[in-house]
Amino acid sequence: MTAELICVGTELLLGNTVNTNAAFLAEKCAMLGLSMYYQSVVGDNPGRLEEILHVAAERSDVVILSGGLGPTQDDLTKETAAKVMGMELVEDARAKAEITAFLEKRGRRITENNWKQSLVPKGSKVLYNPNGTAPGVIMEREGTCMILLPGPPNELEPMFEDQVYPYLHSIQPEILCSKMVKLCGIGESLVETKILDLIEAQENPTIAPYAKTGEVHLRITAKAASEEEAYGLIAPVEEELARRFGDLIYTDEPEVTLEMAIARLLEQGQLTVSTAESCTGGLLAGRLVNVPGISRYLREGYVTYSNEAKEKLLGVSHKTLEAYGAVSSHTTAEMAEGGAKAAGADICIAVTGIAGPDGGTEEKPVGLVYIGCYCKGKLYTEKNLYSGSRSKIREYSVASALTLLRRAILEEVCK
Ligand code: AMP
Ligand code: MG
Repeated sequence: MTAELICVGTELLLGNTVNTNAAFLAEKCAMLGLSMYYQSVVGDNPGRLEEILHVAAERSDVVILSGGLGPTQDDLTKETAAKVMGMELVEDARAKAEITAFLEKRGRRITENNWKQSLVPKGSKVLYNPNGTAPGVIMEREGTCMILLPGPPNELEPMFEDQVYPYLHSIQPEILCSKMVKLCGIGESLVETKILDLIEAQENPTIAPYAKTGEVHLRITAKAASEEEAYGLIAPVEEELARRFGDLIYTDEPEVTLEMAIARLLEQGQLTVSTAESCTGGLLAGRLVNVPGISRYLREGYVTYSNEAKEKLLGVSHKTLEAYGAVSSHTTAEMAEGGAKAAGADICIAVTGIAGPDGGTEEKPVGLVYIGCYCKGKLYTEKNLYSGSRSKIREYSVASALTLLRRAILEEVCK
């Protein structure tokens, strides 16, 4: 079954209101297994709304509208949709009673135009609205279903969850379930190359890669009659991904972030960590502090922006800084080792680089970033070259640092 979305409101066209209803409804339709091929935004203009409604009713099984159900003259969604569906508007006694009760409870005066909201297309299913005055409606006619929902998200969202979702589920018994397999330490193109055969042969489940900063996420989605059946279809695909990518996969739980996965490893190995940052200026420590309970493992975070700070706080030698410069693998190694000692931690992860936009040279261009990790006597260093804005370079540096940190802990924990 196909679904189509039409959001009504001039404020959306002008960019005054962000169209959050579109994101909400599209995600719900995807979960319901409805294929959505079109979304439109149309202003409060009955002629243009009528035009798009004819097109939508022709090409889609389910047409969902949001907005334009208000009491004022410019709210014309219901009138226009009923006209297109060939239905007349009649008063709904319960809607009228509920509008009266809603307004009286809040001490608001009932005005003549409020009664416009108690009109519903004859023969439609009325969606009563406990959070506002505009009822929604579901209209059905020869293979086309049209669903009208109020614009305010605090009214639309519960109305959809409580009344529309069960209705759509009943007319479209298949549901979609998905799992998110998250990888770090491998680029998007290499991930895609390694699973090209799976992507090409995919039917149910499907695999979709998403590139994130320093990470790649693979969403496996299956369509089935029940959740159990859907996850049964997902399991063998996930096992195949595990065979191909091994420990580059850090989680298959949607809410688990890279820093959360690292915190779990620190817990597993009972290890403590510190950070020593130059160009990321605390961003790396900030990512670790995202994790509740990290205080059990995170000792100290140093922001050592100047050479003097690197010497004073981390014990980087003056000679190293003079001979190789602050942005070098020698310096990052000394930062990592010195940062672990100074903090009395098992591990220290260090970053030094040139975030730009100025300060680059031919030998050391903007985007050159060294990462170092000291872990219980072992030293890892890595050289990276990123492109992009200052903030992008800093974000990528943090992602690489977390990835190297995870690698070092994995080796310590799994040895
Ligand atoms: P309406 O039902 O058209 O009277 O809309 C009432 C209010 O709901 C508008 O003033 C907006 O604040 C909000 N609204 C309408 N459409 C959307 C949308 N697509 N996304 C988010 N908010 C919306
Ligand atoms: Mg409106």
